[in-house]
Amino acid sequence: MQFSAGAAATLSALIWGARETGVRRHWRLLVAVGMATWTTGVALWAWYQVVDGRGLPSPSLADAGFLLYVPFGLAALFTIAGAAKSTGDDGGAQGHHFTAGLMLDGLIVTASLFFLSWLGALGPVVTAGAPNRVTLVVAVAYPVTDLVMVSVAVLAVVFGRVRESDRTAFLFLTAGIVALALSDSVYAYLVAANASTMKPLENSGYVIGPLLIAFAALERASGGTRVVRPVGHADWWALGLPYAALLAVGLVVAARLMVGPPLGVVATSTGLLVVLLVVVRQLLTVLQNRSLIDRVYADQRLLLHLAYHDSLTGLSNRLSFASRLDDAIAHRRAMALILVDVDDFKEVNDRFGHPAGDRVLQEVGRRLHEVAEPRDTVARIGGDEFAILVEGAAVTATDLVSRIRTALRTPVLVDEVPVLLRVSMGVVLPDLDEPFLDGDVLLGRADGSMYAGKRTGKDAVVIYRPSIGDVPDFTSALRSALGDRPIGFCMVYQPVVRLDDETVVALEALARWKASDGSDVEPSLFVPSAEQAGLGRVLDVMVVNAVCADIADVSAELTVHVNIGAARLGDVEFEAAVSEALTTHRIPPGRLVFEITETEAVKDLGDAAAAIRRLQHWGIRVALDDFGTGYNSLRYLHELPVNVIKLDRSLTAWVANDPTLYRSLIGICDGLGLDVIAEGIETEASADTVRRLGCRYGQGFHFGRPDSLSAVVGRTPRQRHGAVRHQS
Ligand code: C2E
Ligand code: CA
Ligand code: CA
Repeated sequence: MQFSAGAAATLSALIWGARETGVRRHWRLLVAVGMATWTTGVALWAWYQVVDGRGLPSPSLADAGFLLYVPFGLAALFTIAGAAKSTGDDGGAQGHHFTAGLMLDGLIVTASLFFLSWLGALGPVVTAGAPNRVTLVVAVAYPVTDLVMVSVAVLAVVFGRVRESDRTAFLFLTAGIVALALSDSVYAYLVAANASTMKPLENSGYVIGPLLIAFAALERASGGTRVVRPVGHADWWALGLPYAALLAVGLVVAARLMVGPPLGVVATSTGLLVVLLVVVRQLLTVLQNRSLIDRVYADQRLLLHLAYHDSLTGLSNRLSFASRLDDAIAHRRAMALILVDVDDFKEVNDRFGHPAGDRVLQEVGRRLHEVAEPRDTVARIGGDEFAILVEGAAVTATDLVSRIRTALRTPVLVDEVPVLLRVSMGVVLPDLDEPFLDGDVLLGRADGSMYAGKRTGKDAVVIYRPSIGDVPDFTSALRSALGDRPIGFCMVYQPVVRLDDETVVALEALARWKASDGSDVEPSLFVPSAEQAGLGRVLDVMVVNAVCADIADVSAELTVHVNIGAARLGDVEFEAAVSEALTTHRIPPGRLVFEITETEAVKDLGDAAAAIRRLQHWGIRVALDDFGTGYNSLRYLHELPVNVIKLDRSLTAWVANDPTLYRSLIGICDGLGLDVIAEGIETEASADTVRRLGCRYGQGFHFGRPDSLSAVVGRTPRQRHGAVRHQS
């Protein structure tokens, strides 16, 4: 029976081991070998008993078979526990420490248990009854090796070193080992007592054990979930287990020292061994803690570095640059701000691929870092945009600008191909006495100057001068309003109509400003001036808020078009402010259409397209304004996923000369599923013309001039408002 059980376990482990892979295969094969040696032991034993008729000799070859099963069983247990370790994210050293710790804990518990049982029953029986030294060693080897295996198995479960998917199999395996161990103990006792047979109940472990092991090998992964309790996370009592064992040993030693006979060689050396093991375990724990602490510090340093540095170039990132800038402003340190933008970087990416593009950026960053002074801050603040904060006099800044140009004059080698890079730079030399100065404003100005340079041809350096196109009253009024409407500022609204029946389908919001001297300032003057002063976002957010407040209580059916600078596309702070405005005034996003103007400021069409999709996902539709004026119009049409096209009024004025072109343009937009609004319709005649050419919506003085909201809404009877249903 024992033989059949053993053979069953061997076969089961062999067959299922062959079907599995990796760790699940390895431990099964180890079990198979272990059970094979054990079964051989059984066979030899049976041969001694039945064929040879010598009864239960000890020691014998059978003992070798039985004991050989132990190393393989242990190896199987460690294989399973080791797999749990390798799926965790802890480093290798950590894992090795852990396995060593587990082994030590197992040894400590085993040695203590052995110590206790030796002093209890085992010692006296063995010393009294063992016929010779070899028999004694063999007899003791059974309980000791079994104790080691049982302790290791139990500790592995207790410390969560078993993967969830292996758990059931592992528990079966452990149960099998325990059953074998129980019968082994009885066997050892019988050998020591010179008995020659085992009763059925006493050796039932030899049948149940292998059967349980056979089941363990059969056990399939339950769903394969790989939940591993993190290293070091164990219950307190589990952590205290080896120390409890030590304590028990200590107490017994103390008791025996006070009363009772001396301890004897075996007990004393086992006791010493326990102490030694605990000391080693303690040292290991200290090592483990040291490496944990080292890792925590390293992680902390890495996180700090990542938070303040650009991962590609290792330079400062936008966040740390902005805080350095604010710091310099707050302490009124003399400084200059230089913005460096690589011209046509997109072409490098398109031609050589993004990895090569990344290397070019790294090289540019390296060169900038090289020419800057150590106290300057060099940062990468955007895709191909670098910024340098120069601390010191203005001369150092102009100096640095020429050094940058020289440094970048050497071509960069990309895949062995020399590529000559050009950069545009915007320089700001701030007047620290200016009120409401902050880092955003300075960066905005540097940006504005740099783009002004790009427009006049690339490879340019533009130094920001407040006098160029500035409407100083407006920018300071805007800044001192702190996000509110400045004095003299209001919105007017102009109707957009359906050309069929002249129904008002939408309103376009237009900004108006009266200067302190009472004169009206054109938006075509104050809008670019705000943009140049780095206040473009402030203006647009203020307008969105003003519009939302205005329309909160007029017909919910009416869509309102709001003009937005192209630089707002992809500006997350702007997006957040819009979302807040919509929430505050309870305006559904579907009521807004953003008209994008100044498309020349679109730096990266891909980014702009993504930003537009984000707005649309929200419910805000997007229109391309002044279409037909820029030389890139068709490209924008192709690459920006807008909903609406507004044909510039210069086209409307010209339509009579060349109706074909106009018709084709409307055909293209129709084909793309875009709504078209003809701008600048001043007469009945031009309204007729564009309607005949297929245009469905129009806007212009002919249908209504921009006026206050109440005037516009009052003028157009409510029942004539149709919702704009520009399909998207
Ligand atoms: P736009 O977006 O093309 O706005 C239409 C401009 O054409 C308005 O000038 C409007 O008054 C004018 N207009 C409307 N119908 C006719 C017409 O039949 N004939 C003629 N000749 N003109 C007509 P406005 O209000 O002076 O605005 C000028 C530009 O300023 C706008 O051009 C827009 O780009 C910008 N802008 C206006 N308000 C805002 C605003 O709130 N935010 C931003 N970022 N830009 C704005
Ligand atoms: Ca517009
Ligand atoms: Ca327009």
